[in-house]
Amino acid sequence: VSRDRRGGCCFFRDEMNLQARQALEMERALHRALIEQQFELWFQPLLDLQTNQVRAVEALVRWRQPSGELVPPDQFIAHAEESGQIIELGRWVLKTAVMQVAGWQQVLGRPLGVAVNISPRQLRHHGFVDEVAELLSDSGLAEGALELEITESIFLDVDSESEVVSLMSQLRQLGVRLAIDDFGTGFSALGYLKRFPVDTLKIDREFVCDIHESVNAATLCQAIVWMARGLQLDVVAEGVECEAQLEMLVQSGADSAQGFYIAKPMVAPDVLLTIARMDRD
Ligand code: C2E
Ligand code: CA
Ligand code: CA
Ligand code: CA
Repeated sequence: VSRDRRGGCCFFRDEMNLQARQALEMERALHRALIEQQFELWFQPLLDLQTNQVRAVEALVRWRQPSGELVPPDQFIAHAEESGQIIELGRWVLKTAVMQVAGWQQVLGRPLGVAVNISPRQLRHHGFVDEVAELLSDSGLAEGALELEITESIFLDVDSESEVVSLMSQLRQLGVRLAIDDFGTGFSALGYLKRFPVDTLKIDREFVCDIHESVNAATLCQAIVWMARGLQLDVVAEGVECEAQLEMLVQSGADSAQGFYIAKPMVAPDVLLTIARMDRD
């Protein structure tokens, strides 16, 4: 084929082929990664602003390539959601996180929460609530210690509303707490807070990052905390990167905070020592 005869449409077709090939390659790589257990869980502490103790840890998945390179979740979670592999990956994450934290609770001799990210597809997958119930009883995790984090996108699909409300209610009956992740970024109307059973709002980093420098940002954060108070929801602020932000959040009345300034995500063997150190300070 000569260059001249390749029109725009061929270019687009090649582009689509390339995308399809890359998606297929990704699916194969994820498949292998699941079989060969190339995934790791890292944990980031959530600081209780009232007691100044670590209230919980959030489990964050990473992909350790055979080359040793560590791939962040933003680079593969969306692919796993599209291919459906998030079901198997999410199951592994949930089980590993719950088992791990159940063990840490025993060593610490006090309750420690575990927050796990759940994609909407996972929540709606048949049998999810039963799996959670079984895991909770097998692990012996303390009642109320498991918190599932889900983004507002779950509330966008009106057709699934009654199904999702029912699933959420069943989870809460198991003593599972439900958090809205990345609160305020999901383009959904606030009305869902009235209709869906949730326990916690996690204020997105976007609102926290200039809270100490911008009156508007501080006002928004304060408004979210007051609204949450009124609705009897807990508030977690994420993405806290400096002392000034932390101070503002304490003043605004947020319940917990999470971020690099408090503690970065860490590998499992570092968690207990870090918690002991943070509890002491
Ligand atoms: P997320 O749930 O909002 O998790 C918080 C992300 O912010 C984490 O990125 C964390 O490392 C990062 N972070 C924490 N503190 C700070 C800070 O002070 N400053 C900044 N700039 N960043 C901070 P990570 O681990 O790369 O995770 C990215 C996203 O991937 C998560 O966002 C979550 O949506 C998703 N994800 C992670 N693990 C899982 C999982 O097991 N299942 C699902 N479905 N999604 C997951
Ligand atoms: Ca999260
Ligand atoms: Ca978040
Ligand atoms: Ca986020």
